Amino acid sequence: MITLSIIVPLFNERESIAELINELSVALGDRELQELFSHPFSHEIVMIDDGSTDGSAEVIKSLTSSTPGLKLISFQKNFGKTAALSAGFRVAGGEFVCTIDADLQDDPASIKPLLQKLLEGNDLVSGWKRHRRDPLTKTIPSKFFNTVTRLFTGLRIHDINCGLKVYRSSLSRSLELHGDMHRYIPVLAAWNGFRVGEVAVSHRPRKFGTTKYGAGRFLSGLFDFLAVLFITRYFRRPIHFFGMAGLISFLAGFGISLYVTLDKIFNNHFISNRPILFLGILLLILGVQLFSTGLLGEMLSISAPPESRFAIKETQNLTNLQEQNISS
Ligand code: UDP
Ligand code: MG
Repeated sequence: MITLSIIVPLFNERESIAELINELSVALGDRELQELFSHPFSHEIVMIDDGSTDGSAEVIKSLTSSTPGLKLISFQKNFGKTAALSAGFRVAGGEFVCTIDADLQDDPASIKPLLQKLLEGNDLVSGWKRHRRDPLTKTIPSKFFNTVTRLFTGLRIHDINCGLKVYRSSLSRSLELHGDMHRYIPVLAAWNGFRVGEVAVSHRPRKFGTTKYGAGRFLSGLFDFLAVLFITRYFRRPIHFFGMAGLISFLAGFGISLYVTLDKIFNNHFISNRPILFLGILLLILGVQLFSTGLLGEMLSISAPPESRFAIKETQNLTNLQEQNISS
């Protein structure tokens, strides 16, 4: 069995690839790192080309013959970092898995301390970009994002969305990610009962190319945040969310309708011109609808398939089993 699978999501990072692979080879060749494991160390590097149009895939292919364990998955088009990571997690054959950005901002030398911390009894160890080398337009929103997420989820780590993380494969395989949810992996992991730790890692300025995330990240980040909050609280029991809201609405509507009806019967008040009658009807209908949405949610949550979140253009160097896993 492979000891460590390195997963690299990349989108138009042609200039960085060769250097990254060199740095990874040096880091993985480190004796101390290899001796962390009791059995002989082996690794694979799975690069997921997320629809690059700059020839990144060609660069990777040209390096496969000279780089043992280098594998490639090319997406048909750009599906986003979350999809790329999901594909990587699904094919990873390693007992342990490490994700790293392709743009050389994460330092492969930090993999060793992360693994050390993992082996101390964690299931996921996230890097903490303590000295983050990015413009203020990134670092300030990121601080805000981390603080809000910490507040709402109770997860006590500083840097939730660091590209550099190590996992036990039992955890990485179990992750069901969609949207841009890679940002919340530690939250989802902790919610599933896994032990999450963090280690400060070195971070470097972007050397080539530009960031793939503009201002649009804030909006999609917000929606994913709501989705994650919902999922982590109610995914396995949607009826508890919708059912409660539906019940409150229904009871309020019922109370109002009862009141107007009694008012009509006993006081003979004219009721069809009273706004409160309409409110009562509205709340009754809303209540029933919320309740049925909850029931539908229950059915969906049982049968949500993990497939169809990415379509693969080609793969290289995967074993038969990996092929099956990725295309099923
Ligand atoms: N990435 C990707 N698909 C995307 C966007 C980004 O695979 O749609 C990769 C990108 O190539 C890089 C990593 O995700 O390896 C992090 O992206 P980036 O460096 O642009 O994010 P930043 O560091 O600016 O937050
Ligand atoms: Mg980057």
